[in-house]
Amino acid sequence: MIEKQYAVIGLGRFGSSLSRELVKLGYEVLGIDINEERVHEMSQVLTHTVVADCTEEEVLRSLGIRNFDCVVVAIGNDMQASILTAIVLKDAGVTKVVAKALSELHGKVLQKIGVDRVIYPERDMGIRVAHQLVSPNLLDYIELSDDYTIAELSVPQKMCGNTLHDMNPRAKYGCSVVAIIKKSGVIVAPSATDMLEMDDLMVVIGKNDGIEKFEDDLE
Ligand code: ADP
Repeated sequence: MIEKQYAVIGLGRFGSSLSRELVKLGYEVLGIDINEERVHEMSQVLTHTVVADCTEEEVLRSLGIRNFDCVVVAIGNDMQASILTAIVLKDAGVTKVVAKALSELHGKVLQKIGVDRVIYPERDMGIRVAHQLVSPNLLDYIELSDDYTIAELSVPQKMCGNTLHDMNPRAKYGCSVVAIIKKSGVIVAPSATDMLEMDDLMVVIGKNDGIEKFEDDLE
């Protein structure tokens, strides 16, 4: 299998964390930043690093940027540089451009340029942390649509020793437990007789209001 190649433009807090993780996952990453110090800091971590101003078309073309499977524009604060870089990347024919936006307006402009995916890390993390603060048993979640969510819930002490049949989440909350994560391993598609133990996690799928009720009852 040919591994995907990524380029990350802007090695600030977000770009450096993202590119580090991609390398950890086993991918080749080219990191580019206009700031020599930032590039120096990442030069030992990433596959390749370059000091360059990515708003300059010729610079990106000479790096063969269109050959990368995915290019992430992780410039946030300098909106002009972010937008110009995104235009250059789309003009160069890069297959997939992902760009970070700091505001709704910034995001709208990036979308109009044709950026394939606009991400709002600060906004989304704020929403995520708020959910986790109000529901201590909610460890993580993925919104499948406006109505449906997959949530990872911790099992409180009072529920330990109960089977899924005892809890009956399908009848009570319209939710299905699709997996139980135990220290000893993961039970996928658990049966009604599977018992919940201390430190277990449940992966639950259902309607948002059902999952919220389930979370409330776990407290
Ligand atoms: P964060 O909040 O993730 O730290 P910043 O917007 O502060 O994001 O940092 C973005 C990075 O992008 C900085 O390291 C900056 O030097 C870099 N950068 C800004 N303009 C350009 C450009 N034209 N070309 C390449 N890198 C740039």
